[in-house]
Amino acid sequence: AAKLRNDGAVVYDSSIDKGSEQSLSLLTELRTALERDEFRLFVQPKIHFDTGKVVGAEALVRWVHPERGNVFPDEFIPFAEQTGFIRKLTRWVLEQSAALCQSLDAAGIQLKVSVNLSTRDLMDQDLPAKFRDMLERRRLSAASFCLEITESAIMDDPVRAEQTLARLHAMGVELSIDDFGTGYSSLAYLKRLPVNELKIDKSFVLNMESDAGDVMIVRSTIQLGHNLGLRVVAEGVESEAVWHQLKSMNCDQGQGYYMSRPIPADQLLLWMQQWRAP
Ligand code: C2E
Ligand code: CA
Ligand code: CA
Ligand code: CA
Repeated sequence: AAKLRNDGAVVYDSSIDKGSEQSLSLLTELRTALERDEFRLFVQPKIHFDTGKVVGAEALVRWVHPERGNVFPDEFIPFAEQTGFIRKLTRWVLEQSAALCQSLDAAGIQLKVSVNLSTRDLMDQDLPAKFRDMLERRRLSAASFCLEITESAIMDDPVRAEQTLARLHAMGVELSIDDFGTGYSSLAYLKRLPVNELKIDKSFVLNMESDAGDVMIVRSTIQLGHNLGLRVVAEGVESEAVWHQLKSMNCDQGQGYYMSRPIPADQLLLWMQQWRAP
């Protein structure tokens, strides 16, 4: 398994020669991976509880390493953020997501694709213009996209983040607060930012069946979101019981392993054809 050292090098055990430790520059590896087309766009469907219909999909990146197989984002996103490589990766994810929108359009399907943004993206003054260029080039509407931002990404530099978000929002793209409840959220900011969606972190959703405290947090968060005029999405729906709990609490949309694990983007249409809501 790959391990990230403090100095930013990635260290992994070779299964062939267990005694030796290889140390490579992860940044070089990431750059090479982009050149060699080793990143893959995975998506996880977002389902509307009332209608049972697929209304969106979250873009989640995977790194298909020639030797190590699927490398999960937790192993390289934090490093990509530290080094600024994330900006390149975000552009790649946006392009891939746009391509997905186009192929869904061609099939007569309109879905919102959610893309994760990092602090570095919010500090990138060029992002709104680059995003607009991409939409024009691909003849897509900004309304086809939702951008997910964590509370901590906003809190790193609230003033600058607010500027970027306002510019993106003015273009017609939707904004979502991701992992809600886990950051240093300031409710005052939630009120001020031009957000459309609040996403309840999966840590509160996973054990809702057995944890009364989680149920109370989720119920209150749904009410808070609705009182602020926001759409509320729950991630980490792993069972039919939790599906029904959330539906009865008027949660708007759900995402989770119970409906689907993240799947390669080119399999989404096929998945949608066999999806039946409980
Ligand atoms: P996230 O944005 O909170 O994404 C949700 C994570 O929860 C995904 O992990 C997803 O696979 C997982 N998940 C979804 N449903 C369930 C469920 O029912 N149960 C459980 N236990 N987990 C579930 P993933 O794909 O490993 O991504 C981890 C994190 O990496 C993401 O968390 C996000 O912060 C980051 N990430 C992934 N792709 C990108 C990307 O393209 N750009 C950026 N900036 N970050 C990304
Ligand atoms: Ca997310
Ligand atoms: Ca999340
Ligand atoms: Ca997360």
